[in-house]
Order: sequence, then structure tokens, then C-alpha cells
Amino acid sequence: ETEIPEDHPRYASLLTRHRIEAGVEKGITSKQGLIAQGRGEAFDYLLGERTLPSADAAERAAAATLLRANHPVLSVNGNVAALAPGETVELAEAVGADIEVNLFNHTDERVRRIADHLREHGADDVKGLAADGDIPGLDHARGTVDADGIEAADVVVVPLEDGDRAEALDAMGKTEIVIDLNPGSRSPRTADIPIIDNLIRAVPNVTAHARDLADASSAARRDAIDSFAADAALADAEATIREGAFATPDDEIPGEETPG
Ligand code: ATP
Ligand code: MG
Repeated sequence: ETEIPEDHPRYASLLTRHRIEAGVEKGITSKQGLIAQGRGEAFDYLLGERTLPSADAAERAAAATLLRANHPVLSVNGNVAALAPGETVELAEAVGADIEVNLFNHTDERVRRIADHLREHGADDVKGLAADGDIPGLDHARGTVDADGIEAADVVVVPLEDGDRAEALDAMGKTEIVIDLNPGSRSPRTADIPIIDNLIRAVPNVTAHARDLADASSAARRDAIDSFAADAALADAEATIREGAFATPDDEIPGEETPG
């Protein structure tokens, strides 16, 4: 899908960038989304562009929580749709969740485009166009959701969510799973389960854990949830950034060249 050589030391990062650009060109990702992507990349670099063991534990707890939910919903915005559409559809299938397009800057046009894009990647039912529900405490443009989707959900996965909206969802009593690379951002700090990892790695790993846990004992699922501590996971990511960021051996320092 790109001309980036696979042996380029920053292949994954460049591929991600390319997908976001393509998302903007297709009209599914907003320009704000480009800025969010830049912030995410900076944190990913500082975290070593890998899934920390504490993030893996969060991903396992998220999988168990989704399997246990009565009405789980995966919220999809323009960045999620551009970066991991097929992976999101697979996760929804693995845990029996609904998919709802939910945008910070809602326009019917963009919701429709994202829904089409998700269907091209295998989704059969995509919510978000009814827009007949709301998140109390937010103005109309930012608080519009589907009444039988996010409004009715008991567990919501909100990747790359804005802090205000994460807080408003929390105030509605939802169990919130946030995927965000910045451990200091309000959104993961509000979450019941903060996943400090790149969406691109996190979503497939939650799916892998869900498939594993679906066949495991209910005790194993309970343990995945009970053994996870949100505060400790946030602290671990922050400590990794503070202590380890530039400790990479010389020969492993990612290349500085970028094309174009
Ligand atoms: P607030 O404190 O209100 O949340 P913010 O600066 O975090 O403010 P957001 O709109 O939440 O504002 O910013 C987008 C967030 O998405 C950033 O924290 C960024 O690190 C994160 N992000 C961007 N790309 C990715 C990605 N691919 N995977 C995970 N997180 C990402
Ligand atoms: Mg945030």
C-alpha cells in the first residue's frame, strides 16, 4: 500500500503516517487528527515504540472486561478509521461489540464516509448516524451519540478520546477503556482501564487476548481484571518515558531520515 521500504528502520512509524495522510485525503480523518497523530508519535518514540508489559496487562484486562460486558461499544473516530479499520472490525467480532462512529467534530458527511470505510473492511452494522442520543454535560456537536449505541453501552472503548468527553462518559457511569499514548492526558487518567500503547499495536493485542480468554476459565478472566491496577500502569508508562527514553544502544537508534 506504500512505497516505504520494509527494511527502513522507521517502517512502522512511516506506514502509520502514510495511513493518516490517506485518511485525510479520503475525507475520513480531520486536520485536527493530523495534530493528534503527531502528539501520539512523539509519545510512542519516548516509550520505545513497543508494547510495555504494563500495557499488555491493560490489554488483557480490557479483553476480559469486553467479554464480560452486556453491551460493549467500540467508538471509532477519523484516526481510528484511518489507522486500524480491519483490526477494529475483528475486535468487535471477537468480543461481540457494536461499532459506533463518534466524532469530536461531528458532520453527517464524515460519519457516513467512515461508516462506508468500515464496511469496506468487513463491518456489517455501523452505528453513529442515528445521532438520537446524547452525552449529558456536553454541547450538541460534541455530545451526540446513538441512543442504542454509546448511550446504552455498559463498556465503551474510546481510543484517542478528548479529555472532556472521556470525563463526561465516565460521569454517565460507563466502564471506560481508553487507548492513548500519553499517560499524562486526561482521557487515560479518567479511564477504568488506560491502555498506554499505540492503537495500531493495542487493538490486535486486545483481540488476541480476547480469543485466548474466551477459551479460558472464568477465573482466568476475573484474574485478568482484578490483577490490573490503572494507577500502576499509568505510573509505569510515565517512569518509562522519564528514565528509559534515550537509553537505546547506539546501533539501535532509529534512523533520522524521512522521505520527502
Ligand atoms: P486532553 O488532556 O484533553 O485529553 P490531549 O492533548 O490529550 O488533551 P487529545 O485530543 O486527547 O488531546 O489528543 C489526542 C491524543 O491521542 C494524544 O494524547 C495522543 O498521544 C493520542 N494518540 C495519537 N495517535 C495515537 C495512536 N496512534 N495511538 C494511541 N494514542 C494516540
Ligand atoms: Mg487526551
